[in-house]
Amino acid sequence: MAYRVTLIPGDGTGPEIAEAARRAIEATGVAIEWDVQQAGMDQIEKSGTPLPDAVLDSIRRNGVALKGPITTPIGEGFRSVNVALRQTLDLYACLRPCKTYPGVRSRYTDVDLVIVRENTEDLYAGVEFDLGSEEAKRIIALAPEKMRPDSAISIKPISETASRRIVTFAFEYALANGRRKVTAVTKANIMKFTDGLFFRAAREVAEAYQGRVEYEERLVDNMCMQLVQKPELYDVLVLPNLYGDIVSDLAAGLVGGLGVAPGANIGEKAAVFEAIHGSAPKYKGQNKVNPTALILSGVLMLRHLGESEAADRLERAVAAVIAEGKSVTYDLKPHRDDPTAVGTSQMADAIIAKLRQVT
Ligand code: NAD
Repeated sequence: MAYRVTLIPGDGTGPEIAEAARRAIEATGVAIEWDVQQAGMDQIEKSGTPLPDAVLDSIRRNGVALKGPITTPIGEGFRSVNVALRQTLDLYACLRPCKTYPGVRSRYTDVDLVIVRENTEDLYAGVEFDLGSEEAKRIIALAPEKMRPDSAISIKPISETASRRIVTFAFEYALANGRRKVTAVTKANIMKFTDGLFFRAAREVAEAYQGRVEYEERLVDNMCMQLVQKPELYDVLVLPNLYGDIVSDLAAGLVGGLGVAPGANIGEKAAVFEAIHGSAPKYKGQNKVNPTALILSGVLMLRHLGESEAADRLERAVAAVIAEGKSVTYDLKPHRDDPTAVGTSQMADAIIAKLRQVT
């Protein structure tokens, strides 16, 4: 029976890369019935919102979505669709594998990291009080010796529930994907209560996996240095929201940047697979940008669906096309104005052709 998957093409260059990813995923032979749903800038005129309810209903119904990037309008009163999706569907785990593929320009050769970032709380919970507000004044009054009177305040909530949930996700991911080690990362030497709680929860969860998956802890500043110096020592990293955001971009940088970095936001009832990069609107309609990140997000989606063999084949095909370096987009060529660069859909064609060979 075919899987039903919500396909959100998105806006900007989203529809072009979504079409490339759809074709590449279909070429694996896994039967998928796509439930195409429109979200993004173009929907504002049609539906009055960039995220119509029909999109959320579809994801809830199907449990799995592949999503192209969506532009966040600046200063027009609309929330980011991406943030709204994560919050509404409680997609609490942000998964970002960062792996070096030969042929992608990078300073490193053997990076194979998976970053698991908590997506729902921490300083990103949106509990902020502006300079001079009554709330800020009341909070400053709690510890006037520690806060200047002209401070704006952000609150950092870290809960036991969310910490246990994300660390459990990281260990389960490690087990399911043959990973050997989970490293929890915080700044618990300074934030003893919030980050201390995260480490405590992580240690408790880790006990249940003893003998199957290794566990270790790092402080985030040291972690950044270690990732730059010896990334090959690390495997799965699990972090609270803010550190996770920063470290996952650092890790994407280690493997050659946005064009090849896939991602997923996963909850108990739904999972949305998407590239890390945005809608690159300046290239809209030019058949120019690299479809690899969304195709590799499709690889993650296939694994999530239990189609590991098809996922491995698609990943090998992508890797082979990149390693050959012939049918690749401008960003994967040695020079960005290389006239031999191919377009989005031609790179997808090359991946599909390679997929038939690696089968
Ligand atoms: P961006 O990732 O869209 O583009 C930055 C630059 O990176 C581009 O100009 C391009 O040079 C390069 N780039 C990005 N994707 C590429 C690809 N696939 N192939 C080749 N080159 C690529 O970042 P931005 O310009 O900061 O954001 C544009 C819009 O996208 C914003 O509205 C932002 O809010 C939104 N955004 C959406 C998502 C999402 O939907 N998940 C994520 C990030 C940003």
